[in-house]
Amino acid sequence: MAAEIPIPVEINIPFPKPPAVLNSTEQEYYRERIIALLKQHNAVLIAHYYTDPEIQALAEETGGFVGDSLEMAKFGAQHPADTLIIAGVKFMGETAKILSPEKRVLMPTLEATCSLDLGCPIGPFNEFCNQHPERTVVVYANTSAAVKARADWVVTSSIAVEVIEHLQAKDEKIIWGPDKHLGAYIQNQTGADMLLWQGACIVHDEFKFQGLEKAMNLYPEAAVLVHPESPKKVVELADVVGSTSQLIKAAQTLPHQQAIVATDKGIFYKMQQAAPDKELIIAPTAGEGATCRSCAHCPWMKMNALQLLAGVFEANDNEIFVESALAQKALLPLTKMVNFAQDIKVLVKGNI
Ligand code: SF4
Repeated sequence: MAAEIPIPVEINIPFPKPPAVLNSTEQEYYRERIIALLKQHNAVLIAHYYTDPEIQALAEETGGFVGDSLEMAKFGAQHPADTLIIAGVKFMGETAKILSPEKRVLMPTLEATCSLDLGCPIGPFNEFCNQHPERTVVVYANTSAAVKARADWVVTSSIAVEVIEHLQAKDEKIIWGPDKHLGAYIQNQTGADMLLWQGACIVHDEFKFQGLEKAMNLYPEAAVLVHPESPKKVVELADVVGSTSQLIKAAQTLPHQQAIVATDKGIFYKMQQAAPDKELIIAPTAGEGATCRSCAHCPWMKMNALQLLAGVFEANDNEIFVESALAQKALLPLTKMVNFAQDIKVLVKGNI
């Protein structure tokens, strides 16, 4: 059984201003500048699947990496560069720093954040956990270093079900945070006793059941690929529910020639690379109750613009610091997940 709690934190999220649109000459100027700066500073560019295509392309072209948050952090830890440039949102920079405390971690802007992180501040979350000391605290990777440090386990979407099943087998009751939709999905898959923090991703929360049904009528042959941060009724329409990496794999391996995709449309860059002959259709964010605040692209991911990346070494307010004791505490539940994954031979990937 699952119990729900009202979210104790009101989040009124101001949307960031989108970066200026560049013409092709400006794009080329910034691209060349970034390539030169990466070499000069022995730095590597590591980008998330949800950043804009030109950022992902640049990461690949310069020997960097594109992936989900944990893959990004792991790549950074194994790479010989002194400086990691993380194109993503702030918790991703923190995870990279936790895994590479000796490296300098810079981001185009520290204002790039995440509604899941914002909606789960450590003070109220800690208080909530303290009210249920008998429960095991499991948090999603999309959280601050402080929330990770408070947790018994950190999980990605690719291994969350397995971890909860493992805990359930030991009769453990769970506190889950922060994503309510992912929590409900895991609870539904496992039947575990979970108290769900009521956070949501503003991008996935906007996918609408009615809009998706209409799209399915329009493309009856298409596979429906859904990230589990989406609402339950959207998840129920899916042929495949999975993390970012799992959805890319599904687009590549399913026999369908078309796929309707319910996750951030930034994923199309890598998905199209993996499945070049297939037609990818973004799931509609329109429908009853739609606000179209997000339109399937994260406004904070969009802040990772070329012009900010070009200034990443000059800005003096964009380095990630995680206090050493906190980082060591946050590393424990992260390491626990990685070791568990090795034991059960599941590749730990996932959004984020
Ligand atoms: S897409 Fe959603 S989960 Fe990902 S960074 Fe943006 S707000 Fe957070």
